[in-house]
Amino acid sequence: MPRLLIVGGDAAGMSAATHVKRACPDVDVVVVERGSYTSYAMCGIPYYVAGEVDEPAQLVAKAPEEFASMGITVHLRTEAVDVDPEGRMVGVIGLDDGEERSEPYDQLLLATGAHPVPQPIPGMAEYGNVVHTLDEGERLRRHLDTVATKQAVVVGAGYIGMEIAESLVRRGIKATLLDRSPQVMRSLDPDMAAHVERALIEFGVDVRLDERMTEIRGTDGVCTEVVTDKGTFEAQAVIMGLGGKPNLELAEKAGCEIGPSGGLVVDPQMRTTVAGVWAAGDCVESVDVVAGLRRNVQLGTHANKQGKIAGYNLAAVLSGNQPSAAFPGVVGTAVTKVCNWQIARTGLLESDALEAGVEYEVVSFEGNARAGYMDDPGRVYVKMMAGRPTGRVLGAQMVGTGNVAKRIDVAATWCHLGVTVQEAQLLDLSYAPPFGGVWDLLQVGARKLVAKLGLQPLL
Ligand SMILES: Cc1cc2nc3c(=O)[nH]c(=O)nc-3n(C[C@H](O)[C@H](O)[C@H](O)COP(=O)(O)OP(=O)(O)OC[C@H]3O[C@@H](n4cnc5c(N)ncnc54)[C@H](O)[C@@H]3O)c2cc1C
Repeated sequence: MPRLLIVGGDAAGMSAATHVKRACPDVDVVVVERGSYTSYAMCGIPYYVAGEVDEPAQLVAKAPEEFASMGITVHLRTEAVDVDPEGRMVGVIGLDDGEERSEPYDQLLLATGAHPVPQPIPGMAEYGNVVHTLDEGERLRRHLDTVATKQAVVVGAGYIGMEIAESLVRRGIKATLLDRSPQVMRSLDPDMAAHVERALIEFGVDVRLDERMTEIRGTDGVCTEVVTDKGTFEAQAVIMGLGGKPNLELAEKAGCEIGPSGGLVVDPQMRTTVAGVWAAGDCVESVDVVAGLRRNVQLGTHANKQGKIAGYNLAAVLSGNQPSAAFPGVVGTAVTKVCNWQIARTGLLESDALEAGVEYEVVSFEGNARAGYMDDPGRVYVKMMAGRPTGRVLGAQMVGTGNVAKRIDVAATWCHLGVTVQEAQLLDLSYAPPFGGVWDLLQVGARKLVAKLGLQPLL
């Protein structure tokens, strides 16, 4: 019986496991996961921390018993620590009993994800919390529930830090959001990020930018204050809302190539550079089809799709066929919600275009989220970019109180397919007063870009 070994039991790993087992019931599918859960929604951790989700089990899409009933073996609390790609063997250790053993494989999938790297700051090891696994989310929630937390500091004003800061405020905790960068959300241009900063402040988050944490202090094992290069904050909890670094210890031991972005190099079929070793999810690089370069993009949407592609191709290979499915790449689409504001982006930022030497034109404007005569027309800030002279849509950013989170998917499709602003301005998009204006805001942007680029038809 051919054997597939998967390291990492979340989005990418379990998507692949499920596909292979369904397509090839005769393949022995074995998963090792060092945490206590499988297929959990990390994206739901801020809502669990806020107390809006009661139990961690509610964030688990499928438990190990369900996988077992499908014929997939999952070893929880088991860490893969070594790999021999010649002998096709992975060394694992049971985290509860310390037992070491070897797991053979015919094909190996690395779905090890990413994790923030601990910062070398005094007090970090004792008092710093991260929220990159459900076990860590549980630990933070337990801490907030048991220690009378009135004030907390969140470090990192990207989407994870902002979501956690909001969840703390919802629990009645005073949250200070700290970032060494001069803006929140560096995945937006500074002018668009300024709207998000305002929303956070209006919601009650104490936003501190251009400020660096230097020490966490505590007594009797409980954090008491955070020291920065500009001051000291009382805090009974410190949460690192930082992005992760791909978990590549095993891949390095296997000799897999790591790209300049810090992610594993994989081909469109999700094969690494080592025979028999595949990878998917937060640990790999993806091709950015707009920028024309490779990026390590850590999002669940890609992890699930890449896991599925890997599973499809692994099923083919394990049945003696050629892998034929290909991951088409990414355009940098992301959404989040902060307070009542939706934040959405796709494609290039101005800084990306400048760095890549791309000639572009950009428009920024604001408009109503719904028809102006509705009770609450809402507000949306839009920024849109097109290539010069081609008019190809290169990127869009939207921040607003209307449904921009799904609207951005239209711009993402334009970016992916190379649609121009001339084409975009007249495409058949939906309209009814509760959802927007007769001219969708993205089409208003396209029209403005047509004019700015001197293209035709100028409507
Ligand atoms: C707070 C938060 C909110 C998020 N919100 C969103 C969102 O709204 N939208 C979105 O698209 N994405 C979101 N994400 C990102 C998304 O959760 C990840 O992109 C996705 O989980 C990645 O899936 P993965 O399978 O590649 O890696 P992971 O989910 O990180 O899973 C990797 C697994 O591998 C295990 N592992 C690693 N090394 C070993 C080893 N040596 N041995 C055994 N096991 C190992 C880890 O324990 C882990 O369970 C969010 C992330 C966080 C932290």
